[in-house]
Amino acid sequence: MRAQHTRLILNLLWEHQELSRADLARRTSLSRSTVSAIVSDLLSKGLAKEAHAGVSSGGRRPIILEFQDQSSFIVGIELGATHISCVLTDLRCNGRASWSAPAPVRDEPEVALRMMAMAVRSVLEAGGVQPFQVLGVGVAVPSPVDEERPGELLPLIVPKWKDYNIATHLEESFNRPVFVDNDANLGALAELWWGAGTSAKDLAYIKVATGVGAGLIINGRIFRGSGGIAGEIGHTSIDPNGPQCICGLKGCLTTFIGTPALLERAKNKLRASGSNRLPPASIDELVNAALDGDLVSVELIHYAGDKLGVGIANLLNLLNPEMVVLGGGIARAGDLLLDGVRTTIGGLSLPESIVNTQIRTTGLNEWGIAVGAATLVLQGALDTPALFLTESREAL
Ligand SMILES: [Zn+2]
Repeated sequence: MRAQHTRLILNLLWEHQELSRADLARRTSLSRSTVSAIVSDLLSKGLAKEAHAGVSSGGRRPIILEFQDQSSFIVGIELGATHISCVLTDLRCNGRASWSAPAPVRDEPEVALRMMAMAVRSVLEAGGVQPFQVLGVGVAVPSPVDEERPGELLPLIVPKWKDYNIATHLEESFNRPVFVDNDANLGALAELWWGAGTSAKDLAYIKVATGVGAGLIINGRIFRGSGGIAGEIGHTSIDPNGPQCICGLKGCLTTFIGTPALLERAKNKLRASGSNRLPPASIDELVNAALDGDLVSVELIHYAGDKLGVGIANLLNLLNPEMVVLGGGIARAGDLLLDGVRTTIGGLSLPESIVNTQIRTTGLNEWGIAVGAATLVLQGALDTPALFLTESREAL
């Protein structure tokens, strides 16, 4: 009972940032003495502070309690297939320090784990935060994640990680609670809390990168499916006779618009056009060229939008979300990408499933998924306040 009441009060205080004990009692219908006891606990842990006197409604002026965003900190890590990004945030997911570098995540787990440890130390040092002040570490991984075994990545997608448990490894290194989830799920969570989707209850986020994945938010929570595979839109086939995919199926969406496929297509198109321009080495370069008006690049972005549109049309008919948010490097192309998407879904979705769905590119910057990983820790702590209130946090 006490835990439930603590959760209620903590969530109200986090959400409103400033409330008096009387406000809390009124909003929760708990007795003043229950509220006072829980507030004392929060004050002693530094999660709240008595800030100033509020406006009196007749009697003594109430003391306003203020949630302390900087009473502890969160580390959020994005493991991409070929890069690592890491952020240190406060309890409102405001960034305090960040670190990013290319890394052979998909192919060399040992190197990736070492680089991850380096990234965490680096953001702690840059942010002036001691390890014992860290509430938890969130990790976004480029693989489906089974809630029952969150540290194990799916060998089908990242075979080299077969013998590694990422959660156990990080817990042993940092002695802090570790939360792991799929990168697209955490992109969706970040959009819901801080980005384009703050007003939405049902939202799909699609990350287009080396792989293509969707994070689905249904009624404000991540929808994972029975084994964590929900949202693997990149492995829905859009052409049964299409190219072979790493997953064993044919014509998966990823085989058309995943980074390697798009860059290969760019190379072939340039060669066919007789141009002696160097092909783009990254999606960033491709997007920059398209934004500069290079016709071959514009056509490639349209092509990606068109193929993506097939996947999205099916998603709209299945889930009818309020909003679809596109992320990953190619999202920076904005309307060049969205035009292709909209044209395709216009011909493939039921009119009713399009009418109420907004389709847009991400409202967050390139740190969005790492911030989503930090948000997973924050959400976990607001759901289970014991994480905030643990008595002794041993140093590393
Ligand atoms: Zn596939």
